Amino acid sequence: MEKKFDVAADFGSMVFHEEAMKAYLSSNSYGEWKKCIETHTPLDLSIANDIAEAMKRWALERGATHYTHWFQPMTGFTAEKHDSFIAPAGGGRAVMEFSGKELVRGEPDASSFPSGGLRATFEARGYTAWDPTAFAFIREHTLYIPTVFCSYSGHVLDKKTPLLRSMEQVSKQAVRILRLFGDTTSKAVVAQVGPEQEYFLIDEKDFAKRMDLRLCGRTLFGAKPPKGQELDDHYFGTIRSRVAAYMEELDEELWKLGVLSKTKHNEVAPCQHEMAPIYTDANCACDHNQITMDVMRKVARKHGLVCLLHEKPFAGINGSGKHDNWSLSTDTGDNLFQPGNTPSQNARFLLFLAAFVKGVDEYQDFLRCTVAYAGNDHRLGAQEAPPAVVSIFLGDELTKVVESIISGTEYADPGKATLRIGVDVMPTIPKDNTDRNRTSPLAFTGNKFEFRMLGSSQSIAGPNIALNTIMAQELEEFADILEQADDFNAALSELIQRVFTQHQRIIFNGNGYEQAWLQEASRRGLVNLTSTADALPYYTAPKNVALFTKHGIFSKEELEARQEIHMENYCTVRTIEATTMIDMIRKDILPAASAYAGALFQRIQLRGGMEGSHYESALATGISQKTDALMQICEQMDRDLKEAPADMKSKLTYFHGVIEEDMTKARQIADELETMVERKYWPFPTYSDILFYV
Ligand code: ADP
Ligand code: MG
Repeated sequence: MEKKFDVAADFGSMVFHEEAMKAYLSSNSYGEWKKCIETHTPLDLSIANDIAEAMKRWALERGATHYTHWFQPMTGFTAEKHDSFIAPAGGGRAVMEFSGKELVRGEPDASSFPSGGLRATFEARGYTAWDPTAFAFIREHTLYIPTVFCSYSGHVLDKKTPLLRSMEQVSKQAVRILRLFGDTTSKAVVAQVGPEQEYFLIDEKDFAKRMDLRLCGRTLFGAKPPKGQELDDHYFGTIRSRVAAYMEELDEELWKLGVLSKTKHNEVAPCQHEMAPIYTDANCACDHNQITMDVMRKVARKHGLVCLLHEKPFAGINGSGKHDNWSLSTDTGDNLFQPGNTPSQNARFLLFLAAFVKGVDEYQDFLRCTVAYAGNDHRLGAQEAPPAVVSIFLGDELTKVVESIISGTEYADPGKATLRIGVDVMPTIPKDNTDRNRTSPLAFTGNKFEFRMLGSSQSIAGPNIALNTIMAQELEEFADILEQADDFNAALSELIQRVFTQHQRIIFNGNGYEQAWLQEASRRGLVNLTSTADALPYYTAPKNVALFTKHGIFSKEELEARQEIHMENYCTVRTIEATTMIDMIRKDILPAASAYAGALFQRIQLRGGMEGSHYESALATGISQKTDALMQICEQMDRDLKEAPADMKSKLTYFHGVIEEDMTKARQIADELETMVERKYWPFPTYSDILFYV
């Protein structure tokens, strides 16, 4: 009988975490590793050898045969190349070996990863380097070593390096601010992230029968089913036993890997679910979210299910997002977005809030770019996810505080006294601001911000790199001013008031799904980038380049390379989708509809011709008209695909305009055909089959 899972004992059992390191390393090496992550000093090769040896011993005891440098290339996925530990021992035998050099640095050939032109294929070699701040772990007999990935010439080719850099930058600037408030002990400020992950589970038998799901991760066809999510009977509903079994195994697998999986529930759409972990530092959260997505997919297969992480697997039914909960806390766990108990703590809170408000306003276009992604275009602004306009929800109470600061009146007692932010006069700030506004892209939820625009399949690195860097920028500006001030409290008061006044346009507490908001947003001068094609050109706007180069996160070339990769990805996704559509239309849909129309015509003949067969003749004629129209648009799409321009920016608008329009037309006709053709003729499972599989 299989051993029952023991949460306390088995949590993190497959992670070479701090406790395991302590147990397996000499105290000297352990101390050196601690020093390395605290002070960012490089490790001596002898220490690295020692750690490698301990890691190997730990891994072999847990059945590992291989190791891999695990990295996060710019595809947004993770990559790994497995090497076994074996080395020849003479006499036809082998020993298991793993050196410090192998731990610290790897050289995957990796020439096929996108580099956005940062390296030519002849100098394809990429390097991976161990990230000692993230723990190694074991999956399926392989020791996974989290690493960064860069090119021979030192260009950053991954998502982890800029994330780590942005964390360091925001820490540096935030600590300067803390010192101004008399905090002499905090050594670092850590970006904290808790990503909520939505996903769909469907039966693998249905999945196997649909080429669109297999190749594109979403359905390209499908008429609206009689029942969708209208009754809201799925949201937080009882979890079906097959799904419950899946969730249980998912939790166990994640817990073994040290992922703090905490909450699970059904979501709005049928077959849609959510998992939320307890938040950790942004780097770990990013690693863990990648692990989570992978484990979600693998565990599903064991249950005869398929996990869909696509942003919009089914038209007309809510898609999946990933809420990125973000905050800053000191190394001792003091949350800087927690309104405080004393005037001084509140002043600190308001300063961080002001930095956030200013930063989001100034870099709203870049934040929008971090979620510009082919799959996400179906969600943003579609009454199920926030609009494409970035704004901040603060809730009524906090907004009143901000307004009183702007107008210079005292909060709670308008008109009475002038508000002076500082040590003695300070509004009490409502603590538990749990107002819910599901329509806001960036909601303040008590002591953190919830960024709700991210797509379910996207890496969380993008928005977190942006949030950290934006905050670093604003805090640096604030610290420069305040460090020079003769009267700190007066300067602080003046600064906060000025910033809220200048940037209040980004604050919006109303219903973001309403058309009226889009008009209001445009009056306020907020950018509304409704599609990936509209958004991505902003990626390298001069002010964005200035931001990232100034803080050493990306060079101009690196930013341009990333933009190129995102644009290319969008066009590639649409090409695959359009090509899949053409294939399904030609080989599945048209033959099926035609066969059914043929059967109808046979019946018509048996009944003595068209006049005698109203039902059959009307239907057969209708189907024939639609199949002709579908064939035409299919041929048109094929021609349009071949005529795509070569230049990247034109290609982007071409795919968003011409190709998407072809796809929409083709889908509409095909979906109409689905409602006309007899069930047994239809070549693949319908929405009703897939969404209500038990
Ligand atoms: P919701 O009602 O949106 O589901 P929860 O309280 O469950 O809100 O939190 C959602 C996510 O936010 C969880 O992953 C949680 O760990 C994370 N979270 C909570 N506090 C913070 C914080 N201070 N910083 C970052 N993430 C946080
Ligand atoms: Mg949430």
